[in-house]
Amino acid sequence: MDTDPTTTACAVYSPTLNFENAWTLTAGTSVFSAELIAIAQALKHIYNLDDHPLEVMIFSDSSSAIKTIMSATQTNNEAVSDARETIASLKSSGTATSIVWIPSHTWIEGNEKADRLAATECTKQNGNKIANNLSAEEIISLTKANWRDDLLSTLRQCQKKCIQVRTRLGVIKWHQHNNRKISTCLHRLRAGHHYLNSFRYRIDQESDPSCRHGFEATENSQHLLLTCPKHENHRTRLRLFLSGNHLPFEEDTILGLNLAIDPRTQFKIRNLLANFLVQSGVINSI
Ligand SMILES: [Zn+2]
Repeated sequence: MDTDPTTTACAVYSPTLNFENAWTLTAGTSVFSAELIAIAQALKHIYNLDDHPLEVMIFSDSSSAIKTIMSATQTNNEAVSDARETIASLKSSGTATSIVWIPSHTWIEGNEKADRLAATECTKQNGNKIANNLSAEEIISLTKANWRDDLLSTLRQCQKKCIQVRTRLGVIKWHQHNNRKISTCLHRLRAGHHYLNSFRYRIDQESDPSCRHGFEATENSQHLLLTCPKHENHRTRLRLFLSGNHLPFEEDTILGLNLAIDPRTQFKIRNLLANFLVQSGVINSI
């Protein structure tokens, strides 16, 4: 079985019976349930055969799914009770069932085949559908995911670029830095809350918003990062790196807010920015 962020599918493959099938499951189904449903489907297929075999072996790479089916603990997961009932029915019609764990991704052919079937079903969804009921845990995690999406879309109504570019909540790794002082500085620059003269001016209209080095410009993050002549010699490496990668020398790109750029490049830009902040000394003004 396999998952992508929105779809869960599961698959069964039997070389002996020359049988294969894949199913798209209810949105929000966990990988654990998908494993259970695959086992339950395999058992049902055997049970529905005209000639019941004396013995059936199911191979699964999910030890937790196997343990759950084999244990006697009560469950609210339908696939578990489904599998248990079918094992009991098989037993009463003379078929002994064993469920065997196999390690995944170790080129066991049947397992690889089932993985491929599920992955294809996930992307193309041209097989069957199973409208399985979600367990309580799955409903909770689905609700949480929806809540996160709602929160994010509410946050994104604010005008800040650092929020608007977000496609999900959580940490963007190149926005952090091991050095706490640098990390704080990066965060202030992205959020637009810093100790530069332009921000002081927003709080105190009598203060002077212009460059502290006497250049005729408002001292904001753009001035500091891109144009202030005082720090021009410290920008050289950052400028060269960006032009070498055909990237614009502008604030969003430098601050890691251009999410179209690949992570490797983002980390390099961040490191060069950190060097600029420290070497020019501007880290102490932000
Ligand atoms: Zn300046």
